[in-house]
Amino acid sequence: MTASQLTILSQTSLQDYVDCPRRFQLRYLDRLAYPAVESEPTLENERHQQEGEFFHRLVQQYLIGIPAKQIGNLANTINLQRWWENFQQDFRSLKDFGSLYPEATLSSPLGNHRLLAKYDLIAIDQEKITIYDWKTYRKRPRNEWLSGRMQTRVYRALLVHAGAHLNNGQAFEPEQIEMVYWFSDFPNDPARFSYTSAQFKRDWDLLAKLAEEITNASYYPLTDDRTKCLFCPYRSYCERGDRAGDIDQAEVEMEAEELFDVNFEQIGEIAF
Ligand code: SF4
Repeated sequence: MTASQLTILSQTSLQDYVDCPRRFQLRYLDRLAYPAVESEPTLENERHQQEGEFFHRLVQQYLIGIPAKQIGNLANTINLQRWWENFQQDFRSLKDFGSLYPEATLSSPLGNHRLLAKYDLIAIDQEKITIYDWKTYRKRPRNEWLSGRMQTRVYRALLVHAGAHLNNGQAFEPEQIEMVYWFSDFPNDPARFSYTSAQFKRDWDLLAKLAEEITNASYYPLTDDRTKCLFCPYRSYCERGDRAGDIDQAEVEMEAEELFDVNFEQIGEIAF
C-alpha cells in the first residue's frame, strides 16, 4: 500500500509518523505484524494490557447502563478491583451529567485522508464539553509530555471540527472543551487540558500539514532518536537490537507505557 492509498489516519498512526516515519511505514503501509515481544517482563506486561482493555470494557458497560454492582462482580483481579473502586469513587455522579457519549467515534476529511478518533467518553453538560480518556498507566506521565501527544491534539481539534451533530448542528467553540486524562492508579491527579481557538488553529494546521506530508512521502527515514527504538516492535527490521528494553529501567518510560495502553481507538485501528 502507498501513503496516498491509506485513507484513515488516527492519533496513533500520526503519533507513529511523528515519532518515526519508518515505524509508520512498517505498521500502516506494509502492515507488518509485530515481530518481537515489546518489552520485558513479557507476561506481566501482557497481563497489564489485558486488564487495561477489560477495564475499558467495564467502564463502557457501566456508562451504557449496566448496574455498578454487576460490573463490580466482573472486576476479578486485584488491579481491576482497585481501578474500579477508584472509578466509582470519582465518577459515581457522572450519570447526572447532561449527555454522555461513551465510545463516540468522530471523523472528518483531512487532505486526501480521513481523520478518525474513538473517544472513551464525551460528556456534555450545558456549555461545557469534557473529553474523558481512561488510562491504566503504571506511572503518572508529566503534563508536558501529555500536552504534546497527538492524542491530546487530535481529540480536541476533531471535536471542534466534527462534533456539530452532538450540539444541534452547531460546532463547539474550542473554549467550551476540556480534555481529561483520568489515571486509574492515580485518581486524585487527573491531567486536564483546556482549549482555545488559537490552539485549535495551530492543531488543525499541523494535522493538515502532516496529512499532506504523508500523502506525498516516498521515503520513510528511521528516527534519529534511538530511545524510540527501545520498545519499538520493529527493532529487528531496523537492526536496532532484538531484545526489548526493560520497562523499569527505560528513559522513555511513558512511551513504553503507551504501548500497553490499550483503548478502543487502538482496538478499532487494528481492524482497519
Ligand atoms: S526500531 Fe526505531 S527506527 Fe525502526 S521503526 Fe522502530 S522506532 Fe523506527
